[in-house]
Amino acid sequence: MSSPMEVTLQDANETGTCKSDVVSESVTSSLLVDDKVLVSVEVCLKPSSTARIEDVQAAVERMLEKRSLSYTDGPVPVPDGDPFIQENVQRICICDTDESVQNHGILLFWQVKPVVHVFQLSEEGPGEEISGDGQLSSFNEWILPAKEFDGMWESLIYEAGLKQRLLRYAASALLFTEKGVDPFLVSWNRIILLHGPPGTGKTSLCKALAQKLSICFSSRYPQCQLVEVNAHSLFSKWFSESGKLVAKLFQKIQEMVEEENNLVFVLIDEVESLAAARKAALSGSEPSDSIRVVNALLTQMDKLKSSPNVIILTTSNITAAIDIAFVDRADIKAYVGPPTLQARYEILRSCLQELMRTGILSCSKEHLILPNYVSLRDKLNMPEQLEPLVPLDLAKQLLAVAELCEGLSGRALRKLPFLAHAALANPYHCDPSKYLCTLTETAKRELSEI
Ligand code: ADP
Repeated sequence: MSSPMEVTLQDANETGTCKSDVVSESVTSSLLVDDKVLVSVEVCLKPSSTARIEDVQAAVERMLEKRSLSYTDGPVPVPDGDPFIQENVQRICICDTDESVQNHGILLFWQVKPVVHVFQLSEEGPGEEISGDGQLSSFNEWILPAKEFDGMWESLIYEAGLKQRLLRYAASALLFTEKGVDPFLVSWNRIILLHGPPGTGKTSLCKALAQKLSICFSSRYPQCQLVEVNAHSLFSKWFSESGKLVAKLFQKIQEMVEEENNLVFVLIDEVESLAAARKAALSGSEPSDSIRVVNALLTQMDKLKSSPNVIILTTSNITAAIDIAFVDRADIKAYVGPPTLQARYEILRSCLQELMRTGILSCSKEHLILPNYVSLRDKLNMPEQLEPLVPLDLAKQLLAVAELCEGLSGRALRKLPFLAHAALANPYHCDPSKYLCTLTETAKRELSEI
């Protein structure tokens, strides 16, 4: 069996650009075709729209042909002069050009070949499956792309490269199966394992990845589902139920997979509990039922391997304790670590921007855009260009907080701005600079408690 590919945040610089094939082309922005960079353009339809996807796609492609602006990540204004697009489109967004492109993510229009993905968010919410005794929730199920996961991909901040590489690995795996590559000659599974400390965004990244792929592959797979299983819940005290739960769960997944236009993601959280259950059974402290459950789960996963339209996403908080049989099955084993200084700054910056946008922090217009980490570094290295001063002072203050927060998880960082607000003497009229002082104090308190 081939060993899993280890991806870490540290090896972010080697990018391994591939110039070839159809499906992967439409997934990431960094591939070159006819010397042009393929850029993914996502078009979200209004919930009320009943327009045909192909019509909207053609209309947006025509609109982009006329465009003579540079391409950077972020929203593209919906054009005023096009009533069809106006009526049907909620937003248009250029995605993730910056991870692979030099020059701070700016591409000139003639360097770009836009690849348009049109989608409508499902508002159905999760379907939850409760086991026979009415107490144990064994899995949740979503239709993708789902409203709940909208914006999640963008909100997760890692060192450059990780998100794009996960996207490319998944795209290659789907492509290999789609093209019928012989698994005896080239071996690959469609299993991804994200491991690392708790709160580093692994579960969210799996969900966001599934959402992103459902959008990128919507022309091949018009229907897409995510099934979320908490491995821990399979190994609760109801061991006699566990076997039945696994069987029921995989029967359901098998039914979904039989529909060849369905792309199915299975998210298994906390897979370390598989190893724990097996170990406990061997030492005699748990019923040997648990071994049968782990084995049943692994066998079912192997069965799914023959289906081209399934991707299994797994997470674990404890690297050492992951079942070795399980690690062997994963193609991609990615370590997701605590946020770096740049990621901490960007996470806190996005929080601060949101508090300014919603008016929780009072600010004049000039405060509104804080420089990102890269341009802040550039500005600090060229002091003669230090203007305008006010956002820069705030950004420097924010950078100091980000430096202080070393050791806090992404989850803790996203909570920090709320805790700081709750600690303010006057929460209704809050100046950003004073708020950042409180944020510093709050960070110190949180750090002293870990
Ligand atoms: P894990 O599965 O690793 O325990 P979660 O996916 O439950 O982590 O993360 C919880 C929340 O923490 C996320 O929804 C997100 O808001 C925040 N978070 C964690 N890591 C990051 C990150 N690198 N960038 C932005 N937000 C993060």
